[in-house]
Amino acid sequence: MKSIEEIYPLLLEPRKVAIIMHQKPDADAMGSSLGLYHFLLQLGHQPTVISPTNWAEWLKWMPGCEQVIDYEYSTEKAIAALEQAEWVFCLDFNTMSRTRNMASRLRRLPTTRILVDHHQQPESELFAYGVSNTQKSSTSEMIYDLIVGSGNDDKINKDIAECLYAGVMTDTGSFRFPGASADVHRMVARLKDTGINHTKIHEDLFDNFLENRLRFIGYVLQNRMEIFYEHNAALISIPWKDLVRYEIKTGDTEGLVNYPLSIQGIKMAALIIDRDEEVKCSFRSKGDFDVNVFARTYFDGGGHVNAAGGHSGDTLEVTVERFIEAIKENSSQLQ
Ligand code: 5GP
Ligand code: MN
Repeated sequence: MKSIEEIYPLLLEPRKVAIIMHQKPDADAMGSSLGLYHFLLQLGHQPTVISPTNWAEWLKWMPGCEQVIDYEYSTEKAIAALEQAEWVFCLDFNTMSRTRNMASRLRRLPTTRILVDHHQQPESELFAYGVSNTQKSSTSEMIYDLIVGSGNDDKINKDIAECLYAGVMTDTGSFRFPGASADVHRMVARLKDTGINHTKIHEDLFDNFLENRLRFIGYVLQNRMEIFYEHNAALISIPWKDLVRYEIKTGDTEGLVNYPLSIQGIKMAALIIDRDEEVKCSFRSKGDFDVNVFARTYFDGGGHVNAAGGHSGDTLEVTVERFIEAIKENSSQLQ
């Protein structure tokens, strides 16, 4: 993989570009992709943004979101855009399996793939150019670096700023995590100078749910949460029938895994959900317990030191049993 800087001079020549993010995109995946989209539009390129799956309602306010193609829903259109593209940017993921049904097609595509990502252990051999930096707060910050680094600071408009702000704010837990560096705050000042209303962005992301989601959270915290004090760990496990009963949609469970971390002494929290098509796992930690390694070792996943995910082909019950065994094995690191 060659350095991302090598594409800077090539940006002057307009071309068809596809921008891809990971499945079930979060605000950083969607925000960085749309931030790049608005930037490339201004340079005269013809960008198309593709998500491997659908996305949460609370992302739909983002400028350009209505243009994003859902690969599962509009497969033919997405394939056409992929096949016509000269460049394929891969944002906020670094292993093809994160693109679900698109993965095998992406691997086969003879197009130039460009990586911009901040997760651990990238599949670098799949990309012609790219940047992978786990020190970065968010992929949105890295898109900002790309825009400024290529000498295009003057192109940062309000659309770009809104998208990148949403990504960096959510990936830093509202500027709380260690990744919220001085550089991040300087970037936010620059984004704010474009006239964005950050209060509105926070409201659109966090205060825009339906009643059923809050009732669901109350129900699962009461009935589906187990605390393992001897291992300083906690688990919320949710059967499919709960999702059906509360009419839970994509994005409604975002952030739920963080609740148990607010309990004194709890260093690691897990959320295991039976999504019918697969059992999805999310892990969060405080301090130096590495959930990326944990997710990789036991649940075919990955991510960051303090936030990672994975999945399981077993039933919910068996996955929960495997999780309990895994925290027993890791108990000494959790003390
Ligand atoms: P979440 O728990 O919010 O789904 O994901 C937390 C972090 O772990 C994100 O940075 C996400 O990209 C990563 N992640 C989630 N699921 C998987 C997975 O199945 N495989 C890998 N490699 N990373 C994942
Ligand atoms: Mn991210």
